[in-house]
Amino acid sequence: MSKLLGCAIMALVLAVSARADSDKIRVIILDGQNNHDWRSTTPWMKKVLEDSGRFSVAVSSNLKPGDKPGVITETVQFPPDLSKYDVVLSNYNGADWPKDLQTALADWLNNGKGNLVIVHAANNSFPGWKEYNQMIGLGWRDSKFGERLMVDASGKEQRVEKSKGPGAGHGAKHAFAVIVRDSEHPITKGMPKEWMHAADELYHGLRGPIGEIHLLATAYSDKSKGGTGDHEPMIWTLTYGKGRIFHTPMGHDLTGMHCVGFVTTLVRGTEWAATGKVTLPIPENFPKPDRVSVFEEK
Ligand code: ZN
Repeated sequence: MSKLLGCAIMALVLAVSARADSDKIRVIILDGQNNHDWRSTTPWMKKVLEDSGRFSVAVSSNLKPGDKPGVITETVQFPPDLSKYDVVLSNYNGADWPKDLQTALADWLNNGKGNLVIVHAANNSFPGWKEYNQMIGLGWRDSKFGERLMVDASGKEQRVEKSKGPGAGHGAKHAFAVIVRDSEHPITKGMPKEWMHAADELYHGLRGPIGEIHLLATAYSDKSKGGTGDHEPMIWTLTYGKGRIFHTPMGHDLTGMHCVGFVTTLVRGTEWAATGKVTLPIPENFPKPDRVSVFEEK
């Protein structure tokens, strides 16, 4: 092969791979404070998002003064410039974000410049930030805070008024069945109607403004495990202005996050938040109605 042809091929390869990179959905994970182990869960979520081939993932950590950084050393300075990203994934539960970031996030969503993914304890954050409560729909709040959403035995959604019934909580960690309530939504399309989620906290009694939550899945909160005896919201979407939001209360720690169902839901939910569509497949080893399926620790 001539030198010239070799160079031409190399240039072509570089051009194609550069294009592939620029086609990726740009995600930024916000962490740095959480009553959960963000130091292990952020790298896992970054890895599975990147392994899907669909995302490039940056991390920005709002550390407490004097706290040591996470294991990812190349982070973006906090607060980040949201205009560089398509999706914020919050793995954060801590001190209020600066007012500038709060305003930037609300504007960014409102104007359709970006979208939001909420994982587990991220919904515990910021009870006093009105717009955030609208973004998450439901969060870890007491019963006086707002309405509760559940699904009755006939499959109908019920809203429970504030101060009635339990506020937020969870029973013992255990494996539980996730029941898909909308099989036509891009995120859940193709999933079995029921699938076993690996041992996790099953959040119950979440409260909030609810708004136009689109409920995709629930889980039965068993009283024998310290639950409510009700079908609790487990996966949902909503919008804030023009921004799309995907919210999963699953993912207490790596045990739950190693579930193939959690990972599939996370990558498809993040893709949907970014684009309104889902191209990432349901893998062959997806959990079954009666069997969990987990990624092995490497
Ligand atoms: Zn938890």
